[in-house]
Amino acid sequence: MITCANCGKAEEDDDRNNTLKACTACNLVKYCSRECQIAHRPLHKKECKKRAAEIYDEKLFKQPPPLDDCQICFIRLPSLEYAQTYQPCCGKMFCDGCLHAVKAMDGIDKCPFCRIPMPKKVDEAIARYRKRMELGDANAIYNLGYFYAEGRHGLTQDYTKAFEYYHRAGDLGSSEAVTNIAVAYYYGRGVERDVKKARQYWEKAAMMGNVNARHSIGYEEEEARNISRAMKHYMIAARDGSERSIKCILDLYSKGHVTKEEYENALRAYQDYVAEIKTIQRDDAATSKNEKYY
Ligand SMILES: [Zn+2]
Ligand SMILES: [Zn+2]
Ligand SMILES: [Zn+2]
Ligand SMILES: [Zn+2]
Repeated sequence: MITCANCGKAEEDDDRNNTLKACTACNLVKYCSRECQIAHRPLHKKECKKRAAEIYDEKLFKQPPPLDDCQICFIRLPSLEYAQTYQPCCGKMFCDGCLHAVKAMDGIDKCPFCRIPMPKKVDEAIARYRKRMELGDANAIYNLGYFYAEGRHGLTQDYTKAFEYYHRAGDLGSSEAVTNIAVAYYYGRGVERDVKKARQYWEKAAMMGNVNARHSIGYEEEEARNISRAMKHYMIAARDGSERSIKCILDLYSKGHVTKEEYENALRAYQDYVAEIKTIQRDDAATSKNEKYY
């Protein structure tokens, strides 16, 4: 029989069977009324906080789904940001391999999907982003925020505006935007410096599948000497292609904090990722730009 944790009143067996309401933070206990919940708080607080933290960690340490495929070659997009490019004409993301192949064929930078050239004038480019922004395109809004933060493409540098755009894009699902909110809090750009908030946003972005945010939060944990938490983050990031996390795991191994087996597992996970995303076109693109995409 389920009873109110405070007064002991039993759950009535009516049609909906919900005369008692569960504590939403922990889901461990039920109450008949708000008054009973408040009265029971001093006794319940410790257990509730512990369980709520466990529930949060279960979500935090879950491997996020991989990034979408490039919509031209249908191969998983690399996680490193500069190996994929957003097109403000159609709002799609393509791998640099496909962009490079189109350029090699036609001699100019073109969207591989719409086949229209990239605008030469900055205001034309910005106009495309703004048009996509009106459609609620999270990537367009994130990019505009980034241009404001950096003062790019003819926009006057403005951290406050960038911060506002990152929030809008983050609410629409851009994990890059949420990562940049964390960075803004960390350095106090466009908002008052708040390291705790920075951490919260890094964790949020990591849960949304952002590999850079995942690595950053792992590093924060390592700095705070929470090695087992750091290692969990690094492992998730390694599976999603973070070479930086692999280096940190190697470092932890060399200092004796993780076992050889743990290091080898991480390395294998990273190699599996590379095998999945590596293509000849992407290799060509990276060589031509003198960059790396894994
Ligand atoms: Zn009660
Ligand atoms: Zn509770
Ligand atoms: Zn592609
Ligand atoms: Zn396009």
